[in-house]
Amino acid sequence: MRLIRSRRDTRSAILGYLWCSGGSFRPELAQGVALTEASISRIIGDLKAEGVIQETRRAAPYRGGPSLFIALSNDLSVAAIEISNNCLYSAVGTLAGETLYSVRYDLPDGLGAAEVEATATRAICDLAAWAAQRGITLEQLAVSIPGYDPDLRASPIIALDAARLSDVLQRKLPDTPVCLTNSMVARAVGHRLRMGTGFIGGSYFFVFVGHGVGAAIVDELAESGDVETCEIGHVVIDRRGGVCRCGHVGCLETYVSTVALAGILEVQESDLIGHGDRWPHEYRISAKARAEIRSRLGRLGLAIGNALNLNRQRNVVIAGWPAALPAEDRALIMDAIGQSRLGGLHGIALTFSNASLGREPVSGLALAAFSFIRRSGERRASGRETISN
Ligand SMILES: [Zn+2]
Repeated sequence: MRLIRSRRDTRSAILGYLWCSGGSFRPELAQGVALTEASISRIIGDLKAEGVIQETRRAAPYRGGPSLFIALSNDLSVAAIEISNNCLYSAVGTLAGETLYSVRYDLPDGLGAAEVEATATRAICDLAAWAAQRGITLEQLAVSIPGYDPDLRASPIIALDAARLSDVLQRKLPDTPVCLTNSMVARAVGHRLRMGTGFIGGSYFFVFVGHGVGAAIVDELAESGDVETCEIGHVVIDRRGGVCRCGHVGCLETYVSTVALAGILEVQESDLIGHGDRWPHEYRISAKARAEIRSRLGRLGLAIGNALNLNRQRNVVIAGWPAALPAEDRALIMDAIGQSRLGGLHGIALTFSNASLGREPVSGLALAAFSFIRRSGERRASGRETISN
């Protein structure tokens, strides 16, 4: 484990552990961040005084054990704008993970820039008004945008002008820190939260297969907590293939997204997503459709294997629709990874993760809490001296 050096990093590590664990007793927390109880006690005191964490008395986990339980505060609020599945989700939740407000706006793929901006502006105005009416201070806002790249003004996936969006946010929520990210970061962070603590250790390659297809390299929170995106969904695998929403032809996404899967199953994509992880049990899948799905899994595996040739990660997590398939189908992905990765499957640990479809805005809110934690839980305009490196 990397040594945690600054006070700011220690605060982030403590908050990150509480975020992943859903709260913990002090000894477990100290162990989780690789420090002694004595060395974290002052920071715990500061975070309590600042209202970022709460300490409550709970039944001790064992006789004579600790009884003071520490968790992130339910009194602090964060907000999210999450663009996903042809919709824009706008939400407010508590730092501890409770959703307080959630509204969905239609935002179909292929919509023009003016309509996208109008929808985003309406969502931001509604959200800001809702918070203002209740006197709720938003400590952080996270915006997740498919295909977002800070070097490009507009995403190739959705015609949302990031600079104009920032202007609207600045006008409507002038004091709220905002982070704009690629939606794959939100997916990866949302998934990280659900894994709890001590799951993998070290970094891993996270692949999401849904309406969009993408990947990220996630460093564990105890380390840097970095999430770096990879556009695996837009790897062109056949130039004679179908047109992708990014404008290219034959991207992996056109073969393995939920749009593609809905096409194979001859159902509406929204209906498929509504079924969540139950879809393989709730549709009658013909032999032909099953064979097609299996061939698509092979394409997905080849792309992942090639991605691992470019970035030598050993731990791979796949979230999205393939997770709900029987083990024999999922094994096709593994076989195909072995066929494209140099060195085959040796040393690769593959995990599938369920419950990833149709859960918006959970990922967006997780990203907002994570962003607040990454900046060490510094409350906005609190006037307190909270960080002293
Ligand atoms: Zn594409």
